[in-house]
Amino acid sequence: MDSLDAFAGDKLAALDAGTLRRRLTTTGRGAEAAATRGGHVLVSFSCNDYLGLSQHPRVIAAAQDAVAVHGAGAGGSRLVTGNHAILGALEARLAAHKGKEAAMVFGSGYLANLGITPALAGAGDLVVLDELSHACMWAGAKLSGARILTFRHNDAADLAATLSAARAQHRRALILTERIFSMDGDRAPMGDILAVARDFDAWTLVDDAHGLGVVEDGPRAPLEMGTLSKSLGSYGGYLCASQTVIDLLTSRARSFIYTTGLPPASAAAALEALVILEGEPERRARPLALARRFTARLGLAEAESAVVPVLVGDAQKALDLSARLEAEGFLVVAIRPPTVPAGTARLRVAFSAAHSESQVDALAEAVARLTAG
Ligand SMILES: *Cc1c(COP(=O)(O)O)cnc(C)c1O
Repeated sequence: MDSLDAFAGDKLAALDAGTLRRRLTTTGRGAEAAATRGGHVLVSFSCNDYLGLSQHPRVIAAAQDAVAVHGAGAGGSRLVTGNHAILGALEARLAAHKGKEAAMVFGSGYLANLGITPALAGAGDLVVLDELSHACMWAGAKLSGARILTFRHNDAADLAATLSAARAQHRRALILTERIFSMDGDRAPMGDILAVARDFDAWTLVDDAHGLGVVEDGPRAPLEMGTLSKSLGSYGGYLCASQTVIDLLTSRARSFIYTTGLPPASAAAALEALVILEGEPERRARPLALARRFTARLGLAEAESAVVPVLVGDAQKALDLSARLEAEGFLVVAIRPPTVPAGTARLRVAFSAAHSESQVDALAEAVARLTAG
């Protein structure tokens, strides 16, 4: 065996030993939160398609029309020839939705976070993240070359203490957090965080991947980024901010400049999904209502978003529980370290407008039974 395969083999053995190896499973998806694995049709509680819009006939038709008119790919980076007309329309609608002057669409949410932070902070600056921030916020912070500090999860007083100790030694400071935390489903205290930001002249970038279209109340940050791949059911990422900031990032965000524009079909699907989302408040209210129905049935803390963690602790136990639920017809994927902190493996249950009340009740009954005793 050559040294490369030996290296990979050793690393895999270590991952296996820690129950941390990841494997792909082919999964088909359909209407009403259906997911097909190995010929079995399951009810998925693991998709981030919170409003069921990835399967909506109008969203699918918009994508098909865009392919017919504009072709399959953007054909170049946006600053060269990849800036097809749907992108501008999508950006205008996103900016209006967020109450911002302007927006820019990136290739994905991950790419957005890789581009935004390094364009705004560098050596001599400070980036302060909530300790549970998503991997791509960390990646952007590291790429920036700024000094990185963390504050305790959702603790604005700890953020203030961190800035109080460190702000003066740095030119600029950027705070990174999520409106709704992806693996815990809890909400950041945005009012308190923005007040601290004002006190210390720090800028705030909030990742709204799990809030858009589901939990949208509360104050907005100056930098609001998110994804087109969750409640909008498509693919891509965005940033909403002032026109000046968007103009700067258009010239400076490397993950925007040196990559191909989002394909027309993805942009058109996201735009149509945004139109539907804005016109259907009942659809938007459903994921949170169903999540609360689930937490009430299980006696868990009331859901704050469409995401509810069922904490298990041990990674193997979480995998076993997930397998038992799958045998009963539910797809609820176990989330393990390093996605979540060591010792906090869990089932991450995601609710969708596409679920029925009876599907939610059946899952609650199964979880209660399988975790009893
Ligand atoms: C999913 C997610 C992203 C990444 O978005 P993609 O468009 O899938 O790359 C970023 N941040 C958070 C918090 C997420 O949950």
